[in-house]
Amino acid sequence: MLSVVIPAYNEEQMVQKCAGVLDGLLSAEHIPYELIFVDDGSKDGTWGRICAAHAENEAVRGIHFSRNFGKEAAIFAGLSEAHGACAAVMDCDLQHPPRTLVEMYRRWEEGYEVVEGIKRTRGKESAAHKAAAGIFYRIMSSAVKIDMSRASDFKLLDRKAVNSLLDMPERNAFFRAMSSWIGFRQTQVEFDVQEREVGESKWSTRKLIAYAIRNIVGYSTAPMQFVTGAGIAVFVLAIVLGIQTLVKYCTGHAVEGFTTVILLILLIGSIIMISLGIIGYYIARIYEETKGRPRYIISRKL
Ligand code: UDP
Ligand code: MG
Repeated sequence: MLSVVIPAYNEEQMVQKCAGVLDGLLSAEHIPYELIFVDDGSKDGTWGRICAAHAENEAVRGIHFSRNFGKEAAIFAGLSEAHGACAAVMDCDLQHPPRTLVEMYRRWEEGYEVVEGIKRTRGKESAAHKAAAGIFYRIMSSAVKIDMSRASDFKLLDRKAVNSLLDMPERNAFFRAMSSWIGFRQTQVEFDVQEREVGESKWSTRKLIAYAIRNIVGYSTAPMQFVTGAGIAVFVLAIVLGIQTLVKYCTGHAVEGFTTVILLILLIGSIIMISLGIIGYYIARIYEETKGRPRYIISRKL
């Protein structure tokens, strides 16, 4: 059986449509399935629509979070509830074409254990968003040592892969990176990102920046190396300036005025502050992980 995990946050207009499309397609292809809608603490009637879809179709299941925990949490909740021999993750807004899901399933039947959806085109996005996404993916790609620029959350995983993902204890999960990191027999399927039919993207720029920082800190120590790099650069500068100052002092022309002092204090002060901030991010992550809180809290199930 194929379990399809569908995170849904304020998607009341899409839930039943999505369930209908998937039901039609998967039945026609004779693929046994279950659809697991994870209502990520929606503020609209999403849960009601999931219940309605469940009444129409037994294969629709639902999980309701006690509040909005974010898409990553929703994905992991869905995966841990999945009973299928393989599980796929796709968006509720049908931006991930359902046809590709069938293609992924066929690849899984061929013996692949992780089938990744790769964006052929990114769909409509503003230039600023594209640029920001570009920087984020460059850093993430070097952190996880795989090309992330076209990666998406649209994936199909074998039971073995699902279990190894669920076994990872970290609170700060990043599905996209973790599903590549686990290895197994991987393959890729290309798809075109579709236009969102109704509703709007749930990601504000602020939410995206916070998400990017969280994942960079969670998966890369590159920012820490920046601290070391800055320290070495300032140290070299210190030696040069120190020698120059001493030579001038010994030859009787001590450096004049406060300008040099002020510049040095400003430069070193800001580097120290930035470094402390970077280290602070890592300490915050360590603190959050040690609290060991659950990734999500389920309030209702169907
Ligand atoms: N989503 C979620 N929780 C959130 C934000 C989004 O479960 O806090 C779901 C949303 O319902 C959708 C998917 O994640 O199924 C992708 O969200 P969206 O379409 O808004 O993102 P975009 O396609 O713009 O990247
Ligand atoms: Mg979308």
